[in-house]
Amino acid sequence: MNMPAEFPDLDSVDQALVAGVLAGRLRPLAKAITLIESSRADHRERAHRVLEGLLPHTGRAMRVGISGVPGVGKSTFIEALGLHLIEQGLRVAVLAVDPSSTLTGGSILGDKTRMELLSQRPEAFIRPSPSAGSLGGVAEKTREAMLICEASGFDVIIVETVGVGQSETAVAGMTDIFCLLQLPNAGDDLQAMKKGIMEIADLIVINKADIDAAAATRAKAQMLSALHMLRAASPNWTVPVLTLSALRKDGVVDFWKEVQRYREAMTASGEFAAKRRHQALAWMWELIDQGLRQRFRGHPEVRHALPQLSGAVEAGVSTPAAAAARLLSYLG
Ligand code: GDP
Repeated sequence: MNMPAEFPDLDSVDQALVAGVLAGRLRPLAKAITLIESSRADHRERAHRVLEGLLPHTGRAMRVGISGVPGVGKSTFIEALGLHLIEQGLRVAVLAVDPSSTLTGGSILGDKTRMELLSQRPEAFIRPSPSAGSLGGVAEKTREAMLICEASGFDVIIVETVGVGQSETAVAGMTDIFCLLQLPNAGDDLQAMKKGIMEIADLIVINKADIDAAAATRAKAQMLSALHMLRAASPNWTVPVLTLSALRKDGVVDFWKEVQRYREAMTASGEFAAKRRHQALAWMWELIDQGLRQRFRGHPEVRHALPQLSGAVEAGVSTPAAAAARLLSYLG
């Protein structure tokens, strides 16, 4: 357990919050995540200070991304995996990036009844997807929640997302290993190929193998030959395809062995740390891009000239390049 340290920049409320998180207590953990999820300007400032206090205590967990279409068995699988990891003496946090919540305000992944057994365990912490803002905003808050969970001593952070494209890229960009869950039918595999999701998968799982073992084996062979056509992300890792039954907890132990094998291979080659460094810098640039965009749109001269210049571009009397150059020039 981490020892509470001195944080001169924090007021006493936030000092207690940081100390509570570092002590591994769940209430301060949930409170800290609520704080970072708030979009109020004063909360954002406090959140930044709290995160800075926690940052030296982050980085020790294995960050696992899990994705797949609704119904593929993500929550069944995460529950089985989580319970297995708890048996190994590990603490497990489950976070989610749910792109549907940004559209509807509801959440496919936020249902409290999911992972009922896991949610009752004191070694587990399950947090539904933040629901406010764009996908970028949701992903940013999930990244911050992940750091808070790490500071709180969780050994494994699972970040779940639903398979609808961009959210996979966001989750792959914040985790150490990205795992794609598939159903044992070829139509689905082609879907994944089309969306370019197979390219970012480090591990592929064919779930529901108990329903039709032969179909699962066929799907595995198809996946492996499809993978052959893709360029490997690392010379030190060949993406494995596992068949599994989350419902019967069959193959969960092998799955975790593969995750550990990946970690060992990537650590030995130096790619594990390099990926995290790259992810941290990419995150910084994303925030810079967001900040610049906000500043741009809020600039008085831009706001004044934008409708007229947009109209000119639409009418074909100004080129997009000329209009963009003019608008950007207002930023100085
Ligand atoms: P999610 O939407 O991806 O989270 O999928 P769920 O975990 O909610 O699973 C959807 C349905 O598939 C549920 O009825 C599960 O019981 C079932 N299911 C999940 N994994 C398996 C499996 O390995 N075998 C079988 N037969 N059913 C499964």
